[in-house]
Amino acid sequence: MAMTISQNCVFCGACELECPNTAISPGADTFEIDPARCTECIGVHSEPQCRLVCPAEAIGPDLDNVETYESLTAKRAALGV
Ligand code: SF4
Ligand code: SF4
Repeated sequence: MAMTISQNCVFCGACELECPNTAISPGADTFEIDPARCTECIGVHSEPQCRLVCPAEAIGPDLDNVETYESLTAKRAALGV
């Protein structure tokens, strides 16, 4: 599944720099993750890098966008990144 950013975000921008899929961008009140581009870092890193670097524990699983390992792998390939 994609990851998502909560209202705990302190707008530091650290997550955006770590995303291999350019899935993260600044929103109005928090940074935001595009579920069409987030692949949980599968195939690149062993765990979601955005969650790893977030100082505010603001990033967690997006339960509205649950996906299989296979679909995440296919999404990553389709991104061409
Ligand atoms: S889990 Fe990985 S791919 Fe998804 S938003 Fe975070 S850094 Fe980007
Ligand atoms: S690393 Fe965490 S606190 Fe910083 S912009 Fe990303 S979600 Fe917000």
